[in-house]
Amino acid sequence: ATAARQSLKIGLIPADGIGKEVIPAAKKVLEAIGSDIPKPEFVPLLAGWEVFQRTGSALPEETVEALKECDGALFGAVSSPTRRVTGYSSPIVALRKELDLYANVRPVVSVAANPGDKPAIDLVVVRENTECLYVKQEQIVSTENGREARATRLITERASRRIGKMAFELALGRPRKQVTIIHKSNVLSLTDGLFRETVRAVPRLAEVNGRYDSVKIEEQIVDSAVYRLFREPQIYDVMVAPNLYGDILSDAAAALVGSLGLVPSVNASDKFVMGEPVHGSAPDIEGKGIANPLAAIRSSALMLRFLGYPAPADRIDRAVDQVIREGEVLTPDLGGKSSTQDVLDAVLKKL
Ligand code: ATP
Ligand code: MG
Repeated sequence: ATAARQSLKIGLIPADGIGKEVIPAAKKVLEAIGSDIPKPEFVPLLAGWEVFQRTGSALPEETVEALKECDGALFGAVSSPTRRVTGYSSPIVALRKELDLYANVRPVVSVAANPGDKPAIDLVVVRENTECLYVKQEQIVSTENGREARATRLITERASRRIGKMAFELALGRPRKQVTIIHKSNVLSLTDGLFRETVRAVPRLAEVNGRYDSVKIEEQIVDSAVYRLFREPQIYDVMVAPNLYGDILSDAAAALVGSLGLVPSVNASDKFVMGEPVHGSAPDIEGKGIANPLAAIRSSALMLRFLGYPAPADRIDRAVDQVIREGEVLTPDLGGKSSTQDVLDAVLKKL
């Protein structure tokens, strides 16, 4: 990430449900950063279930084209129809494809009891986002014993290498500098074997030129990784995994720090980064003004980090931590009585 920019163009895609409540809050926080970043220009864009119902497209072409002109974006959440609807598919999945956002990065951090203390949990899950079982090549075959369902699992050297590089690059910027490769190569020796071997080889690549020599490499079989994640989450720093394991691990890790309303993520390529709170559209609380905006606010900080602005990202994260630690202004998912607006105001005041 480089920060030599004159301007900062950010696409805003609130999409559905509480996305429309938390993305405006994140926008306010970015506006409050001041001169640490170029004055952001925001581009409001459409996607999701509501726009699908109106126009027949969940991801209008204009949205994709406009995003290609942006430095980054913030995405809210999409509602999914309860039944399968012809022509509808997730705009997030489509965006990952269109913009080749090959990495899903999810930091999971607990709030320390006192300012200056180390958080008990401070890890980041780096999930490969384009292949594995999610290439969706499934088929049903009729056999004499009934139907048989088969799925293809694709692991490539190219995708494993670039996700590996992203993991090492992130580790380099963290105090512990440790990458744990998550796999199951004891059983799936070819697919998981290739992932493990390729990520392990990243520090030895000629073009890397010793850059990652200070990073410690660990590895863990996925099932024991989950077990240890629940027993001793503090042992992890950067966890890197193929798509399916990463999907499961990142939700499991999010559960360790409480509400879904707290956990940020980004979808990233080498050229573009899109922040996205981990939670969904939360139809049960939509329109009540009580959605927790902190995951979206943290996602905006994470986006800034990827764009090359670590200092303002730290400021936002510290402001959020303070609000949580003080515990006076919290939304109901964290046991409080405050509104989305109250929490936003509290964060802005700390900033
Ligand atoms: P979707 O299909 O869009 O994922 P969902 O019904 O799965 O919707 P989620 O958004 O995944 O809902 O949320 C699951 C639960 O967590 C809901 O009860 C929701 O109210 C709560 N929740 C999620 N995000 C937040 C938030 N930001 N603030 C408060 N509560 C939240
Ligand atoms: Mg959900």
